[in-house]
Amino acid sequence: MYKHIFDTHAHYDDIKFDEDRDELLKNLPESGVEFVINCGCDLRSCEKTISICDSFDYFYCALGIHPSEINDNSDAELEKIKEMCSYQKCVAVGEIGLDYHYDFVPKDKQLDFFEKQLQFAVEAKLPVIVHDREAHEDTLNLLKKYRPEGVLHCFSGSVEIAKEIIKLGMYIGLGGAVTFKNARKPLEVAKYLPEDRLLLETDCPYMAPVPFRGKRCTSDMIAMTSEKIAEVRNADTQQVIDSAKENAFRLFNIR
Ligand SMILES: [Zn+2]
Repeated sequence: MYKHIFDTHAHYDDIKFDEDRDELLKNLPESGVEFVINCGCDLRSCEKTISICDSFDYFYCALGIHPSEINDNSDAELEKIKEMCSYQKCVAVGEIGLDYHYDFVPKDKQLDFFEKQLQFAVEAKLPVIVHDREAHEDTLNLLKKYRPEGVLHCFSGSVEIAKEIIKLGMYIGLGGAVTFKNARKPLEVAKYLPEDRLLLETDCPYMAPVPFRGKRCTSDMIAMTSEKIAEVRNADTQQVIDSAKENAFRLFNIR
């Protein structure tokens, strides 16, 4: 069993955990999970995220509006979320970003909210947790404009884009996708990444690694993700987990 797992991206507020959340989160540390950052996606999920952080010592959180959750009330919601970011266990603004895979929120609206939240993060001196799905160019351009600290979560870009992100001083989050059968790009990125730029994550309840693909994901499954990353890097798995934890401490200012 591995120790010191830091899951930098989870959604334990999701309804898929409603049935057994407390029991599960009480026991998770027994499988080597030491820290979790739960990411809010809209006002309700940010509120739920804070209550989870209040109940479990090893939880921290990121608060923000996800690009696919933007609606007519989002301006008012964002004002409330900004206030909530002063919560002592809030370590980042997120998850925020762009999702061009789905088209239920128009691009201009997504861009507008991403900018507003980037601006806020820089002002509040908080790192960002960024969601970029099929929107690499626009994401990169806005990151270059605002220069926040932060991480590109569930990174799906090429090594070339990873290099640009690292040049900005940001981090790359890798999760279950590195274990998927057709994971060519994420594995190239996993192999290339400097040791001090890699964060581990699940995006649970989604993105469970092989052999649990399609099932509900939990933070202890970072073990399989880390083994795959260690394999392509020709490194020791526990060492990958340990340095990723150090990286998370540095980025999110946790000690
Ligand atoms: Zn997420």
